[in-house]
Amino acid sequence: VSDLFTFDEFLTHWAADRPDRPAMREEDRLFTYGELEERTARVATALLAAGLQKGDRIAWIGKNSDLYFTLFYGAARAGIVMAPIGWRLSPTEWAYVVNDTKAKIVFTGPGFDAVPDQLAGKLEHGPRIIGADEARTLIANTARASFAPSGQDDAVLQLYTSGTTGNPKGAVLSNRNLFALRKHSNEADMPYTKWEDDEAVLVAMPCAHIGGTGLGIMALAAGLPGIILAEFNPDGVFDAVEHHGVTRFFMVPAALQMLLMHPRCASVDYSRLKYILYGAAPIPLELLRQCIKMFGAQFIQAYGMTETTGTICMLPPEDHDPEGNARMRSAGKALPGVEIRILGPDGQGVPTGEVGEVVTRSSNNMIGYWNLPEATAKTMTADGWIHTGDAGYLDEDGYLFIHDRMKDMIISGGENVYPAEVESAIFGHPAVQEVAVIGIPDQKWGETVKAVVVPKPGMSVEEADIIAWARERIAAFKAPRSVDVIEALPRNASGKILRKDLRAPYWEGYERMVN
Ligand code: ATP
Ligand code: MG
Repeated sequence: VSDLFTFDEFLTHWAADRPDRPAMREEDRLFTYGELEERTARVATALLAAGLQKGDRIAWIGKNSDLYFTLFYGAARAGIVMAPIGWRLSPTEWAYVVNDTKAKIVFTGPGFDAVPDQLAGKLEHGPRIIGADEARTLIANTARASFAPSGQDDAVLQLYTSGTTGNPKGAVLSNRNLFALRKHSNEADMPYTKWEDDEAVLVAMPCAHIGGTGLGIMALAAGLPGIILAEFNPDGVFDAVEHHGVTRFFMVPAALQMLLMHPRCASVDYSRLKYILYGAAPIPLELLRQCIKMFGAQFIQAYGMTETTGTICMLPPEDHDPEGNARMRSAGKALPGVEIRILGPDGQGVPTGEVGEVVTRSSNNMIGYWNLPEATAKTMTADGWIHTGDAGYLDEDGYLFIHDRMKDMIISGGENVYPAEVESAIFGHPAVQEVAVIGIPDQKWGETVKAVVVPKPGMSVEEADIIAWARERIAAFKAPRSVDVIEALPRNASGKILRKDLRAPYWEGYERMVN
């Protein structure tokens, strides 16, 4: 299979190789590779018959569903581009993305029949809106016809960035981009890149994020079943691990913490679980230690972004020694085929160990942003390097340490402070459930460090106590000067802390140097 590179090729291959093996399962609906190949061919046929052409967009508003993956893979076979939209967004935000895509058809998932009413008056063009029942009927009633399959470099997926730093942008991804991770990890030739025949992958994160859709693709690339959870919930994850043979899943740190806090967590049988992938946001060290202790599985950190089709760096299991291994703070090493460099403010490479902007080049890199030529030119250089906007450094062994987003860096009295490091230190405090660290304006220092803390249920936190706790663990200039207590942190649909929203009230009337 190492020469397969498109959805059409993978589906055709597995349908011939293992027609009766399970391809995807959601609750009691199970489709084999034979069925998936047939259904996706019908989707391609139906979309083309409806007048869509290669390069046209369709959108999905709904939770994770076998229907979503069937529509996406079917469209992709014919080079029609799927744009999944985060279902947790508001109807106004849905409309923003639908308008941005210019989708010809908007498919809605089960339970989203009100979408046409919710979008009424908000759309700038007139897409057809097709509900889940209608779509299933369409698939059942279409007779497949032959079609021209999309090529390696044709666009097939348009994923919107999480919108952590501004409006979400549509990253346009090709067949080649989406199967690059599989190619790169095959070349890595490490135990965790090999699949056993009895494995299954859990799709637990939202399909509008590469950590959701990408896991479905991972299952397809390996010819194994993808177990689909409509939405993340701890019971669903525990059931999938205990009863549906899930051997690998990917989760953002906030989701891992929800698993840990669940009363069922300690009594689940994790014996079949092999690998837990985590990433998409910095993980507090203490949270990672607790997870390693609880789940027993092997941990792999993934670093990447929507624009790099997800993972470009992996921290392998052997670097997860909870006993103070400094490497546990790293995001890992670039996968084979992925180049990573660190640039200083002058755009030149910095020496090993020095912090700068992380830039990367590989066949993971997106084609570009949809309809945003200026943003594309700012993010991608002519020779194919993506500027991640993340600050980090490489050590002498090639391990990448991500400090934070450049935009979140706090400059206090000329010293650079990275919020993630401060958050990680405060997170271990026994009364702290969640913490975010931001810079607030200060006459003397330019900015000072503020921690915003959510206490554990029934507990209270004292400002002086948090400051003292931090000072024992990190340099004094990094420790917060002030602490606010709130009930919940603002997060986006990917579970990332929206530091820009936390910062906003403090910066009214001020201009931040980086924003
Ligand atoms: P937007 O680009 O719209 O502001 P976003 O950057 O959050 O949103 P994503 O593409 O989902 O959208 O996230 C990519 C970012 O997530 C990376 O640039 C990095 O800041 C962060 N990230 C990803 N993986 C890790 C990791 N392992 N450790 C720390 N941060 C990570
Ligand atoms: Mg980004």
